[in-house]
Amino acid sequence: MTTMSYQDGNVLDGPLRELFAVDLSGATGRCASCGRTGPMAELHVFSHAPGLVARCPACEAVMLRLVRSPDRAWLDLRGATFVEVPMPTES
Ligand SMILES: [Zn+2]
Repeated sequence: MTTMSYQDGNVLDGPLRELFAVDLSGATGRCASCGRTGPMAELHVFSHAPGLVARCPACEAVMLRLVRSPDRAWLDLRGATFVEVPMPTES
């Protein structure tokens, strides 16, 4: 059980929006470890590591890591089976 304090997944919105230019506040993800599917906003985000580490609220497995340097970013999504992002309807 992790005892360090964390923020909810909404803290990922700004850094990931910079990378993907989409609104991730309504995104859904599936944990590769336990299979839980739920809002990315419910992830437990730890910012004490280099970058951001987002853990599944059910099993605490790492679902996402994001590290930003001045000129690049590294995104590790191997802990998520998928991330579903709502998109505007194509006209
Ligand atoms: Zn999980």
